[in-house]
Amino acid sequence: MRNDRSIYPNVVMLAAGVLCACGGNTTSPLTGEPLPDVAIIVVDTLRADAVVRAETPGIDDIAQKGIRVPFAWSPSTWTAPSTLSLMTGTHVRDHGWDLPFPRFMAQAGLSYPSVDDRTTLAEVLTTHGYRTIGLFANPLLSRNLGWERGYGDWQQEHDSSMARTLRRSVRYMKQFDPNRPLMVYLHLLGPHQPIRPSRQAARRWGVRSETRHLSRKGIRIEHAVAGRRDNQDQYVRAYHAQVEDTDSKVGELVQVMKRRGRPLLVVLTSDHGELLGEHDSWGHETSVWNALTHVPLIVSGDGLIPIPEVMTTAAIPDYITKAVGIPHQWPVSIDDQPVLVSQRDGAVAVSGDGRYRGIWDTDGATLTGVYDIVMDPDEAMAIPDFAPRAVLQMHRSHWLAETPNNVRDALDEALDDETRSLLEELGYMGHTEADDATDPVEAVPE
Ligand SMILES: [Zn+2]
Repeated sequence: MRNDRSIYPNVVMLAAGVLCACGGNTTSPLTGEPLPDVAIIVVDTLRADAVVRAETPGIDDIAQKGIRVPFAWSPSTWTAPSTLSLMTGTHVRDHGWDLPFPRFMAQAGLSYPSVDDRTTLAEVLTTHGYRTIGLFANPLLSRNLGWERGYGDWQQEHDSSMARTLRRSVRYMKQFDPNRPLMVYLHLLGPHQPIRPSRQAARRWGVRSETRHLSRKGIRIEHAVAGRRDNQDQYVRAYHAQVEDTDSKVGELVQVMKRRGRPLLVVLTSDHGELLGEHDSWGHETSVWNALTHVPLIVSGDGLIPIPEVMTTAAIPDYITKAVGIPHQWPVSIDDQPVLVSQRDGAVAVSGDGRYRGIWDTDGATLTGVYDIVMDPDEAMAIPDFAPRAVLQMHRSHWLAETPNNVRDALDEALDDETRSLLEELGYMGHTEADDATDPVEAVPE
């Protein structure tokens, strides 16, 4: 379900925001300086190496005036738990939302619980006078899980309409409340399946016209999973073509924010990566392999402070509040001993330096392999038992000792029809007959 609010409710909400801002403090309580705007841009399903393989001038432009974090990890390997960590500054083990993928929940007749007992970054910034807007293309975020807490506006938008909607909000804010700092959370669907890159990008990457029209909404991961090597090659090409299309949308969003003419801090990252054939796997339904946990992280713009070279995206709230000068104690801090942890269905991957990586299986107790991702980024072969194993075990012990273990149970009720259809859009519920419907193949020059 798309949330098709017209612009007018936005105006009303902005006007209401004016009233709130009158009493708000819009300078840093630590420095007394005006608070900068903040733009958090999350490109769903974006592998760290995709921004190297694909041409991404929009992202490169952000990085040119900023810092790329070479070893950034997502706290989990699918949207819901990872985004909760990013919004609340907590490890998955702490917020406890480590629940199965939607199709498995549906099979078990279970629903997801909301999280309303953790402070969000948006709530903290609102308290300090920020106007907050969240625009998201992933329908999973429209579920009533507590995503909207702290946002003056929390609205679903397609990637293609996000910049336009943001531009409208910015325009009205300029009219009614020009000096109030603005924080935006912009979650693009990017190369998440189903994907249908533009003709131009498809041509650059050698995606054939018939591939682009394999199903009604685009190319689905099933075509790669069940397909011959040629189908898999086409999916990889389409994935990178879609990354290039998404990059231009990232550039547009940044330009809209820059036109406000205020100091601006930009944080760009992803909620998880994607398996493109590594370990004979596709997509992000299970596991904590490197292709799923290693994500881009770039900070740029005004008010940059040093950022660790090894960092979980769960530390983003702490980085932002420190950078803009707002005191807040987050569970995960950039000042912590660096430890990367990604958790999925009980399995955990741990690293202290981003290079050596240990994977513990779903009982959380058995170390199944240690990998050197600089020499072997696909983790094709576990390295022999030597020093890194002991170091990784030490990091894991430290993380276990420092992090509360909270388990958040699923609700014993079936997913409602609306939620089910939202998740079907993302291919989370398995194959449907509607997916087989094809569009007429356009005559596209290859
Ligand atoms: Zn995601």
